[in-house]
Amino acid sequence: IERSLVLVKPDGYRRGLSGEVLRRIEAKGYTLVALAVTTPTAEQLATHYAEHEGKPFYEPLVEFMSSGPVTAVVIEGHGCIAGFRALAGATDPTAALPGTIRGDLGRDWGLKVQQNIVHGSDSPESSAREIAIWFPELG
Ligand code: ATP
Repeated sequence: IERSLVLVKPDGYRRGLSGEVLRRIEAKGYTLVALAVTTPTAEQLATHYAEHEGKPFYEPLVEFMSSGPVTAVVIEGHGCIAGFRALAGATDPTAALPGTIRGDLGRDWGLKVQQNIVHGSDSPESSAREIAIWFPELG
């Protein structure tokens, strides 16, 4: 069965939205397999965001992601990688459709990095890679 790595990012955690995100995941029907509140280390973020290294938003992204705790979750269910990304909505919370996590709960705060509440794996390969970063014990 497919698994995906979901993060409630520091903005979502600070705003007390972890429960709301978990509620939507469970209401959709996916299973929670692992759950942790943790402040990301520089090493975890360098690995997690390796594909974005060198992009203009990389430094602000890593700074933002290390600014406080995240709620890290492994979810499970057929199609949950694409399914969670549909629940999350578009990367830009201004464009994200109402009904999605980012569309309902996010907005543009005028910052260099899009603070868009959640992360979700985008492929089976990234899911396996990301689960190993945040939950090495599941590997
Ligand atoms: P995630 O991987 O976090 O689910 P995503 O796949 O929708 O988001 P990516 O393109 O992988 O988006 O970018 C990773 C994160 O970097 C985004 O979620 C957002 O926080 C930030 N980001 C992406 N593009 C920009 C941009 N053009 N300007 C500012 N921040 C950005």
